[in-house]
Amino acid sequence: MAQPYDLITVGSSFASAFFLKGWLAKAPASARVLVLERGERHDHAWHTQNRGKVTQLGRKTYANPARKEKRWIYAPAFGGTSNIWFGNTPRPLEEDFELASRYGVGLDWPIRYADLEPYLCEAEEVIQVAGPERTLSPRSRPYPQAAHELSSVDRDLVELYPETFVACPTARASRRVEGGRPKCCANTVCNNCPIDAKFTVLNGLASVFADPRVEIRFGRQVLAVEHTDGRAHGVRHQGDGGEATDEAALVALGANAIFNPHILLQSHLDDDVVGRYLHEQVGENFRVLLSERANHPGSTSVTGHLWEFARGDRRSEKAAMLIETWSGPFVRMEAGKWLNTLNATAVLEDIPQAQNRVLLDPARPERPRIEWHGHSEYAQRALDTLKTDLQQTFEPLGVDRIVLRGLRKTEGHILGTARMGDDPKTSVVDRNLVHHRVRNLIVLGGSAFPTGFVANPSLPISALSLWAADRWWAEGAARAD
Ligand SMILES: Cc1cc2nc3c(=O)[nH]c(=O)nc-3n(C[C@H](O)[C@H](O)[C@H](O)COP(=O)(O)OP(=O)(O)OC[C@H]3O[C@@H](n4cnc5c(N)ncnc54)[C@H](O)[C@@H]3O)c2cc1C
Ligand code: SF4
Repeated sequence: MAQPYDLITVGSSFASAFFLKGWLAKAPASARVLVLERGERHDHAWHTQNRGKVTQLGRKTYANPARKEKRWIYAPAFGGTSNIWFGNTPRPLEEDFELASRYGVGLDWPIRYADLEPYLCEAEEVIQVAGPERTLSPRSRPYPQAAHELSSVDRDLVELYPETFVACPTARASRRVEGGRPKCCANTVCNNCPIDAKFTVLNGLASVFADPRVEIRFGRQVLAVEHTDGRAHGVRHQGDGGEATDEAALVALGANAIFNPHILLQSHLDDDVVGRYLHEQVGENFRVLLSERANHPGSTSVTGHLWEFARGDRRSEKAAMLIETWSGPFVRMEAGKWLNTLNATAVLEDIPQAQNRVLLDPARPERPRIEWHGHSEYAQRALDTLKTDLQQTFEPLGVDRIVLRGLRKTEGHILGTARMGDDPKTSVVDRNLVHHRVRNLIVLGGSAFPTGFVANPSLPISALSLWAADRWWAEGAARAD
């Protein structure tokens, strides 16, 4: 029989790539790693020419009966959804980790912002985030790249809200990355950036998969983790050539929050909490039609963040809200007011609901089924006052009217289905992302989020993976021997 691998990781996007980066940094030269990715290897040119193709493929891999009102999107391919993400990388707030103790809603994370802070820095360095000098979350290092230029209305908003309006930190380069990505030129089709200015695993972390210790196989869907007596032995996977099993001393799932719980459920690691609490932010696009003011664009697509409604006692009653401002040019079909528009998105946190979940489909066990019953009343209460909040916020700029454009069907974030916590009865993995019952199985990614912030998830997902790799070498590896 073939020698077992030291590590098998599943998936090749943020969660797996950052875990591999951290794990390989401390692994011996003799280590052997197998990466199993269900998608194929395509380059940047292929993704640009075949826009939308991987997401279509992705939709066929799970059942979502509620798809008319709620979509979940991911990209099955080398580099995963990093190929089609937008690249906004704000940090969570300190209080996001303590929702229950500070505001009496949701629950606290088993770790605090301070635990993750050094790893947020490290992830930002890899991603080469362009961000402002001042942010609402404490930082121990400046951003690797200077912030993008704000639009002219963003600059007015800085005057109005000096404490809470900042440039959007982003993975869209504000200057050329040495030996790599060019500077973003603000053409605003970032899901498939034609000039490759946005960080993806392909342009920023492919090196971890090229490490001589790593073997990667494409077109392999992991079905289950093989385990007995609290120890994982390896994984069962399928693809061309049928089913196969590979053995490993350590297994790390980085298949996102639809497929991580699906793999756990298929592995009979089906404690009641597994698959539950599927959630993401609730988003609504809106347009501010300005009476007097033209809006001259900044130097990238999403330029500003207003955190005015994301902090404080409001969160005891209703969801935090982050306003993202978009940088045009957006033309308004009214003479004399061609540029008098601010396009923006209100992003609200949601409190995860147990009934929203990922299930096994008995008719087709290789394909998960999503059950979605809607966002929380907590988010709804914030939506109920959205129009008034926006009116008050933008009124000082001079407003003809504000047009709400309806709830977005997805934010593209998939969170919460294998949540981390100290209590095995209410969580799936511990503070180090190690499965409570199988102590050499790590479950990475947004599935571990007990609550979802208003900030986008990929930076904290990456930081959590670096944290999990470090904690494994500090604690887990010794325990597993
Ligand atoms: C349109 C869009 C815009 C977004 N914009 C932003 C943004 O601006 N900022 C932000 O922070 N986030 C954004 N996101 C979210 C971001 O893409 C995700 O948070 C991130 O990709 C999650 O990383 P991951 O590694 O956990 O999972 P994924 O990127 O989903 O990768 C999972 C990988 O696992 C593979 N896989 C799945 N199941 C199996 C299996 N059974 N066996 C083997 N392989 C498997 C998949 O093929 C894939 O490669 C956006 C998402 C979308 C869709
Ligand atoms: S704004 Fe344009 S150049 Fe910049 S990341 Fe988006 S698509 Fe690429």
